[in-house]
This record gives sequence, structure tokens and C-alpha cells, in this order.
Amino acid sequence: MEKILKKLFGLLTIAAIFAVSCPCSVPASGNQGFLTARQSMVEAQIVKRGVTDSAVIESMLSVPRHLFVPEKYISAAYHDTPLPIGYGQTISQPYIVAYMTEILKVGREDTVLEVGTGSGYQAAILSALVKKVYTIEIIPELALEAAHRLKKLNYKNVDVKNSDGYYGWPEHAPFDAIIVTAAAGHIPPPLVKQLKKGGRMIIPVGGSFMVQSLVLVAKDKDGTITTENVMYVRFVPLTGER
Ligand code: SAM
Repeated sequence: MEKILKKLFGLLTIAAIFAVSCPCSVPASGNQGFLTARQSMVEAQIVKRGVTDSAVIESMLSVPRHLFVPEKYISAAYHDTPLPIGYGQTISQPYIVAYMTEILKVGREDTVLEVGTGSGYQAAILSALVKKVYTIEIIPELALEAAHRLKKLNYKNVDVKNSDGYYGWPEHAPFDAIIVTAAAGHIPPPLVKQLKKGGRMIIPVGGSFMVQSLVLVAKDKDGTITTENVMYVRFVPLTGER
């Protein structure tokens, strides 16, 4: 832990120097430019806003976000904003990805379900933190692209499926944690059922294209469900039969 924090602060110092010395908002070409932009993103958007979990921070520092966005948005990949990924969908704002990951409190031996693969970025962030990630995407083209991208980038413990995530992935349930990255009108009962006792689910709940509540659902050791609104967010809608 101490080692990770030392490393992080070393990286953040480099990022701070870059922020002072470079007036540009577009990363310099090449991997070093992207690494520096990523360090700046983590410091200014994530650590400053209160994310403290060192494993989450480490993962946000290591995943090359610019490889998860369409080419025309590469220069904006580390900006404090969601970005279009095609088919009317978005890759979420970096801070929201970090916050939702942190609040799940996942462990190295956990199995996690994600609903809403999109670009595959959130799944890649989870990949380093847990044993296995199952992720479901309803748009076939996005599911295929994300599966190829994750394979090419060597995220070996992520399985992508094209289907309606409202119904979860019962063959691999129960899950230690579930993350839903599209806004649902209500909390899907199949997902609650597929959550392990002692598990946590984070899900935006509310109407399409309105401000929604980000809800933390906890299932305690005897199966009792509690919910808590943790912040207001704006996500694309959960589509599908329901
Ligand atoms: N997590 C993604 C990432 O890291 O790029 C961003 C997710 S984007 C905000 C929401 C995604 O949920 C979209 O790709 C959308 O097609 C997908 N989606 C919407 N309804 C769905 C459903 N019923 N089942 C599975 N995926 C769904």
C-alpha cells in the first residue's frame, strides 16, 4: 500500500510539473504524452475529487483510455467528460468510472458482472482488480468491437456477451459485485437475484436523458436488501425488452 502510494505521488509530481510547463490540452504524440495526460487526469479529476482506493487509482493510471475511444476523439480521451463511441452511446467520464469502481469495494478473488460494455473501458479498469469480469452489451457491433479491443490489449479475464443485460448472466451467477453503466427505470430484479449475499451493486436509476440517482444496492449476509442514493448522474438509458 505504502509502496503504491509512493509510486502514485511520484507520478502525480511528474503530472503536476507537466501541467505547469505545458499549456497544451492535447497530449503530445507518442505513448509518453498519453501517459502524462493520464497522470494529469488521475490527479486533477479523480484524486482531487476524493477517490482514495490505491488499487482503483493504479488501475486508472494503467489503462490506456485513448485506445478505447474512436480515433477522432483521441486528443480528448483524458478530458473530464464522457465521449461518443458510436451508435448513440458514450464512454463514461473518467471520474464516474473511478467512483463507481471504488464504491463496489471489490477484492482480488471477486467475480463481477458489468451491464453496458460500451467501449470495454470500465471492464478493463475492473480487470486488474478482480478475478473475473463478465460484461454484457446489447448493441452487437459494440460488443464485438469491445471483445476484439480487450483481447488485443491482453485483458484475459474479461468475457463479453451480446445480449440484454437486464436479465444478467445467470450461468455465472452469483456475482460479488454488479455494475450497471446505463440508466434503468427500476432496479432489475434478475440482477438483485444474481447478487451474492454480502455483495454490492451500483446502478443509475431514473428516466432517459434526465438527471438520475446513482443507487448503491447492498445485499447483506442474510439476503436483506438496502439501497442508498450516492450521487446524481446522467447516463444513456438501459434499453431492451424491459
Ligand atoms: N461501460 C462503458 C464503457 O466503459 O465504455 C460505457 C457504457 S455506456 C454509458 C452504456 C452502454 O450500455 C451502451 O453501450 C449501451 O449500448 C449499453 N446498454 C444499454 N442497454 C443495455 C442492456 N439492456 N443490456 C446491455 N447493455 C446495454
